Amino acid sequence: MAEKKENLQGLTVKKAVDFSEWYNQAVLKAGLADYAPIRGFMVIMPSGYALWEQVQRGLDREFARLGVKNAYFPLLIPESFFKKEAEHAKGFAPELAWIEREADGERVAIRPTSETIIYSFFAKWIRSWRDLPFRMNQWCNVLRWEVKQTKLFLRTREFLWQEGHCAYATEKECVDEALVVLEEYEKFCQDVLAIPVVAGVKTEAERFAGAKDTFTVEALMPDGRALQMGTSHNLGQNFAKTFGVKFLDEKGVEQLVWQNSWGVSTRLIGALVMVHGDDKGLVIPPRIAPHKAVIVPIIFEDSKKDVLTAAGKLAEGLAEFSVFVDDRDQYSSGWKFNEWELNGIPLRIEIGPRDVKSGSCVIVRRDTGEKKTVKLSDARKTVENALEEIQTNLFSTAKSFLDKNTVEANSWNELGKAIEERKLVLAAFCGSAECGKKIKEKTTASSRCIPFNQKPAKSKCVVCGKPAEKKGFFAKSY
Ligand SMILES: [Zn+2]
Repeated sequence: MAEKKENLQGLTVKKAVDFSEWYNQAVLKAGLADYAPIRGFMVIMPSGYALWEQVQRGLDREFARLGVKNAYFPLLIPESFFKKEAEHAKGFAPELAWIEREADGERVAIRPTSETIIYSFFAKWIRSWRDLPFRMNQWCNVLRWEVKQTKLFLRTREFLWQEGHCAYATEKECVDEALVVLEEYEKFCQDVLAIPVVAGVKTEAERFAGAKDTFTVEALMPDGRALQMGTSHNLGQNFAKTFGVKFLDEKGVEQLVWQNSWGVSTRLIGALVMVHGDDKGLVIPPRIAPHKAVIVPIIFEDSKKDVLTAAGKLAEGLAEFSVFVDDRDQYSSGWKFNEWELNGIPLRIEIGPRDVKSGSCVIVRRDTGEKKTVKLSDARKTVENALEEIQTNLFSTAKSFLDKNTVEANSWNELGKAIEERKLVLAAFCGSAECGKKIKEKTTASSRCIPFNQKPAKSKCVVCGKPAEKKGFFAKSY
């Protein structure tokens, strides 16, 4: 019980005062995750895993619509596979965790990502142009050993994700679909997670190891750090060459396929906590919340039976919102209110003896704290509307934060100052690795992306002064 009592105290720091500690407490106290015995690992607890399952369900539906099928590939990857694609091998070398046992006389590592092993099978499965496009996805864990400081959901060595892998006859289809998937990620972040993002392409220095192009959606966290929410990569024919992924075209001529890969991870849950949470704890947007509302019956001994019956009936009428009754005897209503606020459930519905008599209930919004007494017969409609309003409100609040904190810099000094102020900064940029490095050295900010759909302008790179047609986003990042 000692632990429960500690929970009741809620968060002991304010989001605006110590954001990092606030985040740690929100995740731990709401029971989303915990630190594992080995540094850099985490335990995802039932409430956190339920959110991940919601992410899986939502995205799986969209992937299936695109014709993507789920599969599963082995955890261990032979050393020779990594070595085949030089850039890929170089990029992931520091991240690999080798296991002590050799397999068939060869070193094997735990997958940091699965391009190599999956494409060795694509080479076997893809024969003719009729097999294309070939679309596959796997939901799994990956392990990347290098990690600076553990941050639950955001920086851990092992994390859960999905990795989509597709092969096409032409580069156009390959790039088009990489962008379609990125759009799905963008929609999911904005419409479901209520997190606004900016989309664009990564510079050469920031792209995925072995890719020809990396596309990304990035969000801005309340501490002014950018978070990469999802990426899709045009792999070109780099892996097709090394793994021999070929097909016979309609004329019977052997061709290499074009490939893309794409993924989002459990860090989306970290973003969700950071963007929407407040001093009372989590605020879960209705469309991702496993339960949209909790009914808390206000119990007195003499009216207990009537109140519980009414609460049960109300829950039945609201079943479509996965509503449940918190009828635990050992806790007071006040204790339960605090706990559900901490856990971020979108709506709380209170029903006590007086409400039963008057045929009403009280509906409380988690995002604004607003209370409304409504007739039981109107509860369904009120809940439905309130959930929509919460979803809209959370997105628009986050969007106005992003807009307010996105600024343009026209010089090296302006860039430095804006980064100092923890803004997402748009500046003319030549895109070179050298200029990116200079910015990182001076400000610790990195190039996040070159946003899509820019009109080419005659500007000068704020770092080197050479002509720059496009602007790039810069920010400190997770
Ligand atoms: Zn430059």
